[in-house]
Amino acid sequence: MDVSRTTRSALAAALLLLLPLAGCAGHDSSSPPGAAELSSTRTHTQSRENNATRYVLAISVDALNAHALDRLGRSGAPNFHRLMTQGADTLNARTELERTLTLPNHTGMLTGRRVSKASGGHGVDFNHDNHRTVQQNAGHPVASVFQVVHKRDRSTALFASKSKFAMFQRSWPRSIDRFMIATDNRRLVTAVRGDLVRHRRAFTFVHLSHPDDVGHAKGFMTTPYLRAVRDTDRRLGELLRTADRHPVLRDHLTIVLTSDHGGAGRGHGDASDFTNYRVPFIVWGAGVRPGARLYDLNDDFASPGFSRPTYRPVRQPIRNGDVANLSLSLLRMPAVPGSEHDRSQTLVVR
Ligand SMILES: [Zn+2]
Repeated sequence: MDVSRTTRSALAAALLLLLPLAGCAGHDSSSPPGAAELSSTRTHTQSRENNATRYVLAISVDALNAHALDRLGRSGAPNFHRLMTQGADTLNARTELERTLTLPNHTGMLTGRRVSKASGGHGVDFNHDNHRTVQQNAGHPVASVFQVVHKRDRSTALFASKSKFAMFQRSWPRSIDRFMIATDNRRLVTAVRGDLVRHRRAFTFVHLSHPDDVGHAKGFMTTPYLRAVRDTDRRLGELLRTADRHPVLRDHLTIVLTSDHGGAGRGHGDASDFTNYRVPFIVWGAGVRPGARLYDLNDDFASPGFSRPTYRPVRQPIRNGDVANLSLSLLRMPAVPGSEHDRSQTLVVR
């Protein structure tokens, strides 16, 4: 940890002591005072840092081909590359085995379950809102990351850019404190930025659809698709600016970014296609080792090469469905009841 980071941690720790509302579900808290106002406060200790309230921002970029980040490079996607350089990442994570579709994979990210309901999965194996709940589709109770957080009196939010995400609000109505759907990704991110500053939510999930929308219309990995990823990089930059400007977020927020699937041609429905089942998984911010490769940090997980491992091997690939239990682990909370992906919360980021 460098000196400036330590100083920032000290300021943030002091801020947290001065913010009794931090982390309280359902309470507003105004923007914290600027760092300059507290520049004389240097009472940081390591234990205080370890005990500080944490925040997780999970971002799912719909249809983010890992290859697109290579193609665009640092100049074309500076914010994605910032997360990779400063965070711990892999461009070779996996989707749910059974489906490379939006709703099944997001249900996996929120519940930590596989798809197949016969083996305890969440049962959402289709890609439209059928106006039922996840539990009704599964035929058994299905808990979510929102419930675990909410049960500990901390607040949650879900911001999505497709209307079918209404299924999640219907499934966990009491534990999602703020729910918003806006198809305009820019408008959605503006709302997220305001929410991050005004509310100290433990867990915020953001879904950005733009690359998927353009991929279906113009083809994945085409020039218009890459332009959409570039555009999403700007949205990510806006979120990072908010984190940079607010000491509490800067020192105590962790971002977990992944995707629901890739895409080839005009679709992504073939779950046996490498381009569809390979996704990035990037973790950045508080508690993350800068510049680390996730598979190097995690001997319990195995990089799958080009393969598509089943759920049988003990050493699983990192999957987008690990979002749920990794986020809870970062918040020092237990795994989602009934979850399957990294249920023992062994995935580490430092
Ligand atoms: Zn999708």
